[in-house]
Order: sequence, then C-alpha cells, then structure tokens
Amino acid sequence: MLRRITFLLAALILAAGTTTARDLNIVSDIAPINALLQAVTQGIQTPVTLIKSSVSPHDFALKPSDIRTIEQADVIFWLGPDATPALAKLLQSDRFADKAVNLAALDGVMQLGLRKAGVFSSDSAADGLDPHMWLAPENAKIWAKAMTGNLSSNDPQNAETYQANLANLVDAIDQAVGRIRTRFAQTPPVPYVQFHDAFQYFETSFGLSPLGAATSEDDESTSFGTIASLRQVLSAAPSTCVFVRDDIQAKRAAPLTDATGRKTGWLKPLGNGIADVETTYPALLDSLAKGYADCFALAR
Ligand SMILES: [Zn+2]
Repeated sequence: MLRRITFLLAALILAAGTTTARDLNIVSDIAPINALLQAVTQGIQTPVTLIKSSVSPHDFALKPSDIRTIEQADVIFWLGPDATPALAKLLQSDRFADKAVNLAALDGVMQLGLRKAGVFSSDSAADGLDPHMWLAPENAKIWAKAMTGNLSSNDPQNAETYQANLANLVDAIDQAVGRIRTRFAQTPPVPYVQFHDAFQYFETSFGLSPLGAATSEDDESTSFGTIASLRQVLSAAPSTCVFVRDDIQAKRAAPLTDATGRKTGWLKPLGNGIADVETTYPALLDSLAKGYADCFALAR
C-alpha cells in the first residue's frame, strides 16, 4: 500500500512538473533582439525572429507568414514603431497589445534623438528618436532582464534557468565591453564620417564621435550639399575614415574617399554576414569595434 501511495505521489509530482513547464512561441522583430532571446532561453526555448540580419528593418514589409507567426506568438519583443515601422500597426492594435513588449519604451533605456544628415552640430537634431538602440550594450542588458522577468512568469518552471542564462549573458556583454574599451585604447580614433548614421548608441557608449554622416535614414539619396560639407570637414584632417555598410554605400560614398589619406571602413549595424551574430549579441559589438579599429589603424 505504502509503495502504491509513493508511486502515486511520484506520478503526481511529475505531472505537476510537466504541466507548468511550457513551450513558448517567442518572437522578436530584428536579429540582435533575437540574439538576446537565444541567450536568455538557451536550453529551454527556441525563439524566432521576423527580420533576418540581411534585411534592413527600415525597409521590411510584412508577409502573410509573418502575420501567422505573430498570431501564434505567446510573446513578441520588438523595438517599437521607430525601428520597425512595418510592425507598428499590428503590434500596437488591441489584439496584440498585451503580448507585444515594446523594448524601446522600457524604463532606463538610453534614447537618443536623430542626428540630421550632414555635418553634425549640437542644435541640429531632427525630430524623432534614433531607432538603432540595440547598439548600446546597456540597453541590451536592460532588455535581457525584462525578457527574463517576462518569460519567467510565462514559464515559471524554468525561472531558475532563465535567471542563470541572464547572468551568463550579462557577464558576456560586460566582457565584450571591456575588450572593446581596450581595443579603442590601443587603436584610438582618427576623424571619421559614416554613410548611414546608425551608430550613435555604440559611439555614445564607447566615447566615439563622428564628424558627420551622409544619411540619417537608410534612404540612399544623398544631396550634393551634404557630400560637399562632409568633404570639407574631411579635408581639414590628414588621415580619416569613411565608414560604409556594403559595396552599394561604398560606391555612393566614393566622392568622400577619393583623396589620399581617406580610408574606407566597414560597419554593419545588424552584423549581417558575421558568424554567430544571429545568436550571439556580444559578437555584434565585437564586429563593430573591429570595423572601427581596422580603419583607424589603416588611416593612422
Ligand atoms: Zn538604420
């Protein structure tokens, strides 16, 4: 009899355990947010992302399969309407408001205003938020903590594992920040401009400061006036870098790099093409730091 009761109790405990552990449908908007979720849910869940790192969030358009993914999601972590405007209507509707977490709006998140294209000056900020918030490591840590809290209440059985994963991720981000500070101490910046002004959060985090940028959005049209003013600030320095994302931008930035002492550098705000970047957030930070430092070293 005692044996039977013991067996029944064991079965009950097992059943209780399996009913509270939940397979969650976790969805993110862009690859860096997915990378944070991959770390927080490691060994427990399999998050998916709507926008791969090869697609610009500025140009993303919803497909029917994306809408199905959103409908089936238990929770969606996104960067809000400034970063992924294509998702705004759906995720801000009453239907999804309770399961869509706008990371940009969380308490303590670093929010910077858009810088106008051209040569920056302190009073020239355009209206609106700069949406590239994922490039501040402190923002990533705030979001990872919020993800851990949310997922722990959706799936309390695994709360301890989420917490342990969070601690590992925060540690990995802090280590990356340390490596990057060392890198910039060893290879200090030269004066530089960039084609697309996507890196304000990274630059603010690491004490870098560009002279200007050709476009504030991914809009590829650059005015002659902007290019002329950037040429002028570049000509004042003997060795400089011009940062672009890809060959298309490099071609458009050609009038800026045609003088001796101007080097072309490569920066990818979503880390597309970089190994591990879809799953490892610190890899994105390291790849940007390498992109800057490689050009600084060349130009010096
Ligand atoms: Zn951008």
